[in-house]
Amino acid sequence: MYDMRRCSEPGCDETVLFESPYCAQHHPDPDAFTSALLAKFAKPGAIKSVNAAGLRFQGVDLSGKRFFSCSFSKTILRNMVFAGCTFRMCFFDFCAADSCDFSGIDAQFCSFAGARFLNDSFEHSELVHNNFDGAKMTECTFNNSNLYNSRFIMAEFERTDFIDCNLKRSMIIPSKEIEVSWRLSNTQEAIHDLDRIDL
Ligand SMILES: [Zn+2]
Repeated sequence: MYDMRRCSEPGCDETVLFESPYCAQHHPDPDAFTSALLAKFAKPGAIKSVNAAGLRFQGVDLSGKRFFSCSFSKTILRNMVFAGCTFRMCFFDFCAADSCDFSGIDAQFCSFAGARFLNDSFEHSELVHNNFDGAKMTECTFNNSNLYNSRFIMAEFERTDFIDCNLKRSMIIPSKEIEVSWRLSNTQEAIHDLDRIDL
């Protein structure tokens, strides 16, 4: 698990960045820190227990990487490529991801809660046991993905498609749904009612 110590800045409750005494907001040089982190990501092998919360990442290809117990909470992600990545127990909660490629990912036990997704692809992915509660998705696609046992409670879907997805044991309880296609997906196997969550 990534380091859960609090930032050294007095009064700051954020967790520290990877091997740093500070959070992203109080780190003296977050850009240099981000570059060093990306150099680490570029090396072969799995990436474990890295806290990158609150950093900005733009235009980097991380396709095929394997992330375990890492935090990308509250990050700003623009034009990032995560295609074919493996994520286990990783945190993307409250991130803002614009024009990113999450296609073909294998994500389990991850949180995308409260995140803002704009023009992102999650196509052809294994999205099993994940939390998308309260996430806002605009112009995204989840087509041909397995959403088994993932939750979308109070999520907002706008011009976002879930064509030919496996929804078995998923919880699809959006608070907003505009121009969404569920074509060819087994919507009858999803849970659409909060009262049924304990079944
Ligand atoms: Zn701080």
